[in-house]
Amino acid sequence: RPEIANAAEARDVVVSFGAVHALDGASIRIPNESMVGLLGPNGAGKSTLFDVISGVRRPDQGTVSLFGTDVSTQPAWDRAKLGVARTFQTTRVMADLSVGDNLLAGAYQRIGIHPLRFLAGDPRAAARLREAEEAAWAAARLLDIDRYWNERCGTLEFSARRRAEIGRCLLSGPRLLLLDEPAAGLDPASSVALFSLLKRLHADLGLTVLLVEHYVKAVLDSCDLVYVLAEGRILAEGTPAEVAADPEVQARYLGT
Ligand code: ADP
Ligand code: MG
Repeated sequence: RPEIANAAEARDVVVSFGAVHALDGASIRIPNESMVGLLGPNGAGKSTLFDVISGVRRPDQGTVSLFGTDVSTQPAWDRAKLGVARTFQTTRVMADLSVGDNLLAGAYQRIGIHPLRFLAGDPRAAARLREAEEAAWAAARLLDIDRYWNERCGTLEFSARRRAEIGRCLLSGPRLLLLDEPAAGLDPASSVALFSLLKRLHADLGLTVLLVEHYVKAVLDSCDLVYVLAEGRILAEGTPAEVAADPEVQARYLGT
């Protein structure tokens, strides 16, 4: 089987909202098992690019491939089945469900089992549900939200809710994780903790990650490859050192 170089590749993507060109011919590639950072000012088109890769939005032009397969015409659900999980810029958890149930929802998605199958007498259901519970509990501990296991997600402080959302994504067993501003709204200590967790997941599990983040230092310190998006176009791409040294990036974005 030929080796697949890229977990995801988007080419020449155009998305317009009326007269606004949110994406104006952007191309990005996420090598397998890499951690890729996407920087850019507000309104640059970063979240729209996430929508296009995850299949939430069909672009006006351009193509998307995942793990070597062209998925341009596939809906978000089919792309999720290929192993793409994402968070949204505005945290989306099931607020009325407990942390435990939010995490279990991710695990059920992966093992493809509805908890009620247990009632229907599926002999494998009990074992698989137990496995899911163990995985969810391990994730809760890793994300330091185990003490909130029985709390409703809606009542949690912000950073814990964020971690619960990331946990639910992780439990779906993604091959590619897309994180839209995971550290936004976190205090500096929580941001540092979150980034060290992401680096650990990336290193230990070989998880491929694309993250949008305004916390430039964390992106430059953590990522293998960095893209800078401005006004719907890729302004710069390369290693963190290359991007940080780019005069246009410095002048227009890094403010140095
Ligand atoms: P970023 O995530 O980099 O801040 P976005 O992708 O959210 O940027 O937005 C890019 C541009 O597209 C902005 O000008 C934004 O106002 C516009 N935009 C995004 N989503 C919509 C939408 N659903 N309807 C209209 N305009 C949108
Ligand atoms: Mg955004």
